[in-house]
Amino acid sequence: MKVEVMGSDQRVVRCARVSFGKDEAVDEKRDKRLIRYLYTHKHASPFEHNIVAVEGDKRLWLSILDRLENPSVQVYFSGGYLWLNLRSFINSSEHFPKEIYEVLRDKFPTIWSVVESGGRLTDEELDKLPYTLDSVFLREKIETSSGWVGLVDKLELGTDMDYYTFIVECPLFVARQWHRHRFGSYNEISRRYTAYDIKFYVPQVLRKQAKSNKQASVDEPVDEPYNSEFLDRISKLVEGAMELYEEMTEREVARELARGVLPQFMKTRYYWTVPRIALDNFITLRTHEGAQKEIREFAEAIRDMVEYRGTDKKNRL
Ligand SMILES: Cc1cc2nc3c(=O)[nH]c(=O)nc-3n(C[C@H](O)[C@H](O)[C@H](O)COP(=O)(O)OP(=O)(O)OC[C@H]3O[C@@H](n4cnc5c(N)ncnc54)[C@H](O)[C@@H]3O)c2cc1C
Repeated sequence: MKVEVMGSDQRVVRCARVSFGKDEAVDEKRDKRLIRYLYTHKHASPFEHNIVAVEGDKRLWLSILDRLENPSVQVYFSGGYLWLNLRSFINSSEHFPKEIYEVLRDKFPTIWSVVESGGRLTDEELDKLPYTLDSVFLREKIETSSGWVGLVDKLELGTDMDYYTFIVECPLFVARQWHRHRFGSYNEISRRYTAYDIKFYVPQVLRKQAKSNKQASVDEPVDEPYNSEFLDRISKLVEGAMELYEEMTEREVARELARGVLPQFMKTRYYWTVPRIALDNFITLRTHEGAQKEIREFAEAIRDMVEYRGTDKKNRL
C-alpha cells in the first residue's frame, strides 16, 4: 500500500511555536516534550499541517466512512488517494490498515510514538526517540507591498487534494480576509503570548475610495497635501500606539489587553496548510480585480509559486 506524507515531527512543533514567534528554533529535547504536551492537552491544530495520503479506491474510502463513528473526522477521496491530515488520522487510525502505522513511525517517529503510548512516554523514553526535521525552512519566498509569503512544503500527486503549506506575514486586515477561506488549517502568532517582533505596514500612498464599488479602492493617490499629511499622521499614530503598548506591558498590563491599542496595520504571521481545490478557489477570488490590492498581491505571489490549476471550477457555488 502506497502512503505519501507531508510534514515531519518538527513541522508540528513549528506550527505550535509560531504562537510565540519561535517557529525557526530547533531544540530536539524541548521539541519532543512539546509534542507530548500538545497531544496530552489536546492542542490539536498544529497536527493538521502534517498530511497523509493513502493510495486506495473509493471502496476503501467508503468502507472507512462506513465504520467511522466520529463525525469530526475529515477523510477526502481524490485521484486514487484517501486524504486526511494527521489530526484526523489520529482520531480514526483504528479504521486504517496497520501498515500505514509503519510509514508514520518512519516519517513522524516522535509524534507516532507519543500517540501510540497515549501520551504516557517518560522524558527518558522521549530522549531516545528519533526526531524528523524539515529539510528547509522555506522553499521559496515572495515579498509583497504589505508583507511576504513563503512556500514551506507541498505534496503533489496530481489530485484536487494535493496539499501546500505556506507561511504568511501580512497586516491584520489582510489576515481577516484570508481566514474566511475555511477549507485548510491555520496556526498564528498569539499576541497574548508574545510582544516579539511587532511590525506595521504603512502604505506608500493612500489610494482613493472607489465611487462605483462601495468596498473597493481605485489605483489613484489621494490629492496632496492630504496624502503626505495622512501618511505622516498614520506613522505618528503607529508610533504612539506602540509607545503606549510598551509602557503598559512594562507596567504589567496583560498583553492580551494591551494589544487592543495596536492598529489594524499591525502585521501577523501564520502557517496555512491548504488543499489544491481550496487554494485554486483562493487564487480565483483573491486575484480578481474586486479583491483588495494588498491580498491580491499575495494571491498573485502564490500563483507565481505553485500556479493555478483550475480545480475550483468544479464548484458551482
Ligand atoms: C471581493 C470579496 C469580498 C468579500 N466580502 C465579504 C464581506 O463583506 N463579508 C464577509 O463576511 N465575507 C466577505 N468575503 C468572503 C467570502 O464570502 C468568502 O467567505 C471567502 O471568499 C472564502 O471563500 P470560500 O467560502 O469559497 O472558501 P473556503 O471557506 O476555503 O471554502 C472552499 C470551498 O469549500 C466549500 N465549503 C467550505 N465551507 C463550506 C460550508 N460551510 N458549506 C458548504 N461548502 C463549504 C465550498 O465549495 C467552498 O468554495 C468576500 C470575499 C471576496 C473575494
